[in-house]
Amino acid sequence: MPKQMDKHNNGPKIQKEMETVAQMIKIYCRRKHHHHELCGQCQDLKQYAHKRLGLCPFGEDKGACSNCSIHCYQPQYRTAIKKVMRYSGPWM
Ligand SMILES: [Zn+2]
Repeated sequence: MPKQMDKHNNGPKIQKEMETVAQMIKIYCRRKHHHHELCGQCQDLKQYAHKRLGLCPFGEDKGACSNCSIHCYQPQYRTAIKKVMRYSGPWM
């Protein structure tokens, strides 16, 4: 196991969001990239999203990422996750 960061969220709300984002990326990859398991790019995006959630300064008090004032995602990941959410959101 890698060493944990000092501040790492793992409350029920964050856990749930991690699950949701993983699910959305899975749907997206399966339908768009025709991968049964996640392709490298989607795997990377999922890891990144989970890392951001884990380090979100709002922790269990966080609202929807789309309404957040911080925008902690790097631009290339932000574009990627937006595409995923627009695509997979209606399926959830
Ligand atoms: Zn993919």
